[in-house]
Amino acid sequence: MNSPLIANSNSMPQQQSVHGSYNMGSSQILKELIALSNEHEEFSLESGETDFVDQVISRKHLRKLLTALQARDASTLCHSRRVAFLAKGIATNLGWEGIHLKRLEIAALLHDIGKIGVPDHIMLKPGKLTSDEIELMSHYHNIGIDVLQACQTDHEVLTILSQTRYHFSGATNGFQYIGSDVHQGARILAIADAYDSLATDQVYRAGKKHDEIMAILMEAAGTQFDGNIVCALSRWEQNEQDAFHDALLEVNRLYQPKPFSEQEAQEANLINNIFSYLFQIESLYDGFYIVNADFQFLLFSPGLEKLADIRAIDILGEAWTANSLPLTNKEGTSLTRAECSMNRVIANGKPMTTEFMLERPGGRLINIEVQSVPMFGENGHLIGIAEIYRDLSRGLKRPQEFNDLKQAASMDALTSVANRGELETQLAIMLSRVNKETNPAPLSLMFIDADHFKNINDSYGHSVGDDVLIEMARLFQHETYSGELVGRYGGEEFVILCPETDLEHAVKKAERLRLAINNLKLEKLGKTGLSASFGVAQVEEGDSVESLFRRADSALYHAKETGRNKVCSLTNHQLLSGINPINDSVETTVDEMVFENTFQALISSDIIVYKLGGFVNDNGAKLTEVNTNRAVMQLGKSGLLPFWGKIDDRKPVEVEVEFGCAAKKTNSNSRSSTPRVDVKIRISPLGWVKKPQLFQQRANRVYRLLKDYFAAE
Ligand code: GH3
Ligand code: MG
Ligand code: MG
Repeated sequence: MNSPLIANSNSMPQQQSVHGSYNMGSSQILKELIALSNEHEEFSLESGETDFVDQVISRKHLRKLLTALQARDASTLCHSRRVAFLAKGIATNLGWEGIHLKRLEIAALLHDIGKIGVPDHIMLKPGKLTSDEIELMSHYHNIGIDVLQACQTDHEVLTILSQTRYHFSGATNGFQYIGSDVHQGARILAIADAYDSLATDQVYRAGKKHDEIMAILMEAAGTQFDGNIVCALSRWEQNEQDAFHDALLEVNRLYQPKPFSEQEAQEANLINNIFSYLFQIESLYDGFYIVNADFQFLLFSPGLEKLADIRAIDILGEAWTANSLPLTNKEGTSLTRAECSMNRVIANGKPMTTEFMLERPGGRLINIEVQSVPMFGENGHLIGIAEIYRDLSRGLKRPQEFNDLKQAASMDALTSVANRGELETQLAIMLSRVNKETNPAPLSLMFIDADHFKNINDSYGHSVGDDVLIEMARLFQHETYSGELVGRYGGEEFVILCPETDLEHAVKKAERLRLAINNLKLEKLGKTGLSASFGVAQVEEGDSVESLFRRADSALYHAKETGRNKVCSLTNHQLLSGINPINDSVETTVDEMVFENTFQALISSDIIVYKLGGFVNDNGAKLTEVNTNRAVMQLGKSGLLPFWGKIDDRKPVEVEVEFGCAAKKTNSNSRSSTPRVDVKIRISPLGWVKKPQLFQQRANRVYRLLKDYFAAE
């Protein structure tokens, strides 16, 4: 069985992509996490620096994470810088120094890193968050900690960050006493965070003055906040007065958001992808861990900490053993090494799903499912293994509020269609169904990219660009009604998943959508027309989320390369034999009552005429002209009146077929030795047609029929 979380990324030849990093399947993202983790060692080995920062987190990681945070929301980064300044100042006043101070400062800088993944509707909500929304935020906070673990961040920083959260819940779900068992750094951070949030204008209220803030903090001293620390802050301000406030302003001035380089934008995008992916794992499963090639724990998620009752900081960096987690077999005996899924995955190199029992504190055994995913590097060497846990005892149902929130989290904030994470999750679910069934229904995917969209932004402004994206999303939703899932993949890219649709029908659908976009009249764009290019692929045996996306993207790339505003499709067979994606589009721009298209026939030129004879016979066509490189025929019969009828036979067309010379091989590496000939088709209606669209549809069917005769694989 092919697990939805696994991509067989090595099985496909690498195709060019329109985009930098979008076509990244899940296993690729897991690999990126491992790569991120390896950067740490590379850095600390190379740099002989002894700055405290390097002992806490590698500068490379810190820079990448802060850049990704700035890309997500620059104001959160500014907030984090002020909180770091405040936390450091309070701690200094309490006598902290050296590496401890540096750890706290970095924890403060990273305390909102989880926001990289938070959807806009929560991030920008004009009002206080509900308790459910706060729960979702804490979900993202956990993901931030996952990523920091992978970056091999200092354990004290992880502890501070995981404990700061206690204050969040304390603030909303009734007070929670913050005792001395909570790390003092977490207590300082909570106050620095509250101070800056209260001082800053929020969407729902104006920022408060220092005295007002101190009054609020004092009131909560001893309950929500540590009173000694609130006093330390107060003393600091009283001692320094203006200098304190000037220094805060200076932080703002020093760290104005900077524009990104191309590379920084790509890195930020990658971190963003990692967050969306981990969100999927965190919300679908109960916990997970990753070990590296040396079987050391690189990442141990907060969910798994709870499930297995093991603290991440106690296990990170340790070597995996059969007893690392309290697992047993069905009989309740501890697992032997041979019984462990890890060992079996290492032995056969394939992903697998196994059921075990897990012992909860107090001895109760619960049923769990473990998905084990081995990851391989470029050279085929094992680079790590992920094990993903599901608690089968808790049932699958989550409370309604959680589902509502999850739904909101799966929506694209601008266009309200599914977002990229949701598309990938749904596709993974559909694929796993396909992989389970012996006779699965077809499933296809369209990748759509608006043409020259940058020009629209440049000419009419970004907000008109946004409106156009909203209109496009609306059009896709209105024009699809057979259970398709429309989603925005990112930027000006959309994806439509088409269940129970084979390639031919998906291409037809895409063609319909393409024409609909051409016909979209948008007031704000005046006479400027809109177009998009489409890449279509159907799920084939062995496909993963990644390979399917990649094939559709290759088709899209071809559509872009060969002039845009068209639909191209690609099968595995074509991909493997180096055949270019098929241009399935009708060229309508010149004359809507003429259809012209070209394909490559997979036969030698001498039997073309013979094949054509077969087509004429089988379809009752009438040849009106034949010579060595051209034939003209009529297909379909006119009725008594010169109008087109309802059935294809009553929609007569004239078909002109022109054979070129033997086509050049499209790919020198091609293993196929079949000769190819360019065949140009030109179709025009005989009789009177009311709607050009009807003609184009009929012409498209005739074209495909002809193509099947010559290009049948
Ligand atoms: P091509 O035909 O090759 O796809 O050209 P293009 O200009 O569409 O492609 P390119 O990838 O060069 O640029 C995509 C543009 O889409 C750049 C960016 O300004 C714009 N864009 C991406 N996301 C958004 C968005 O959310 N809103 C708006 N208004 N524009 C966006
Ligand atoms: Mg694009
Ligand atoms: Mg584009």
